[in-house]
Amino acid sequence: MTRMLIVGPAGSGKGTQSKRIAEDLGIVAISTGDIFRANIRGETELGREAKTYVDAGDLVPDSVTNRMVEDRLSWEDARGGFLLDGYPRNRTQVVALDEMLGRLGVELDVVLELTADREELTQRLKRRAEIEGRDDDADESAIRRRLELFESETAPMIAEYESRGLLRRVDGLGEVDEVNARIMDALKG
Ligand code: AMP
Repeated sequence: MTRMLIVGPAGSGKGTQSKRIAEDLGIVAISTGDIFRANIRGETELGREAKTYVDAGDLVPDSVTNRMVEDRLSWEDARGGFLLDGYPRNRTQVVALDEMLGRLGVELDVVLELTADREELTQRLKRRAEIEGRDDDADESAIRRRLELFESETAPMIAEYESRGLLRRVDGLGEVDEVNARIMDALKG
């Protein structure tokens, strides 16, 4: 299992879990959200392009996001495997990723979905806003928008991976260690 995606709504614990999984498996974790945030902080061209969308909880345009991911996947450290966190998020990005992987001559091994109910997600995002200071976690309308987009854009995309037989679903509710153990079990099975 060296080429993986982790998907789930905002607050499902994707970021935390993906760092642990990547470390355990010796692969690189690539978070599109982290890359956007770093570029916004660094006031780069990419950051300027992404900022209004990230602040509102909207998706950054596919053309910008796809280009960024293709560049990142071409780095040396992604050769032996990667865990993509937060990408793809809609069908257009699924097609773009298929094409990128085709050009690289590799295939996905597994798509991990972390599930959690909306009430739990909203609580977690509010806690995280206090700890990490993310603007999009502190803003009620950005939270709502992200959860809505997950339902309307990302959930249908997950169905596509399910039909390819790549999906493993894991309950994201509980302590970090507990969820991590469930994930490791699911990856073995
Ligand atoms: P995340 O850290 O995954 O919650 O992402 C934070 C924000 O970054 C999202 O609300 C989007 O504005 C943007 N973003 C991250 N990944 C993507 C993506 N695959 N497509 C478009 N926008 C994204």
